[in-house]
Amino acid sequence: MPDLAVSRRSASGVPVPAGLTVLSGPSAVGKSTVVEAIRRYSPQIWLSVSVTTRSPRPGEEHGREYYFTSEREFMELVDSGELLEWARYAGHYYGTPLRPVTERLQAGVPVLLELDVTGARQVQAAVPGALLVFLAPPTWDELVRRLTSRGTEPAEAMQERLEAARAELRAENEFDLTLVNTSVEDVCAQLVALMTAQPACEPAE
Ligand code: 5GP
Repeated sequence: MPDLAVSRRSASGVPVPAGLTVLSGPSAVGKSTVVEAIRRYSPQIWLSVSVTTRSPRPGEEHGREYYFTSEREFMELVDSGELLEWARYAGHYYGTPLRPVTERLQAGVPVLLELDVTGARQVQAAVPGALLVFLAPPTWDELVRRLTSRGTEPAEAMQERLEAARAELRAENEFDLTLVNTSVEDVCAQLVALMTAQPACEPAE
């Protein structure tokens, strides 16, 4: 694996924005809404596109939200070392293609990965200096409301995601910092500021 170590201090010792940032947290906490706002309003940040074996949801496009693939193709990527990290989540595989991340980091472009907690842990181990951000719901009830109102998952998958969310919430103290998702604009502004040392997103429409 190429050396992806990210230094957050310049030669003078002055902190510089993180090169590689991971946004994680429980399913339905709003990570993808934050990522969508960053896609629209903060083109200076490069968003990694993961590979997944789950089916596209309405409105999702191959190559934009995810690369949708078969299990066989996914396992070929795993076996050939082409993924920075990967995990099985609620019955499907998800992984981060390594090469595009390496290329952007080497070009000095800030990179954002949106991952489940297992993936975040793998990046923490593989990339010293990566900034790990935990996105927390304002309350557990709010998370349940968001998870059940999305209405995109069958009941069984919903139960699996609720259980995963409970376990993921317990991982918060493994992260460098927590942002509470009270508003997309606020989280987006804080995240972009952390990554680029600039003020951030316009209000999401
Ligand atoms: P969803 O199916 O709702 O799009 O994503 C399910 C979970 O997988 C979310 O927590 C999301 O952050 C996570 N996820 C998305 N892409 C990746 C990836 O490349 N690696 C890992 N480990 N998790 C991912």
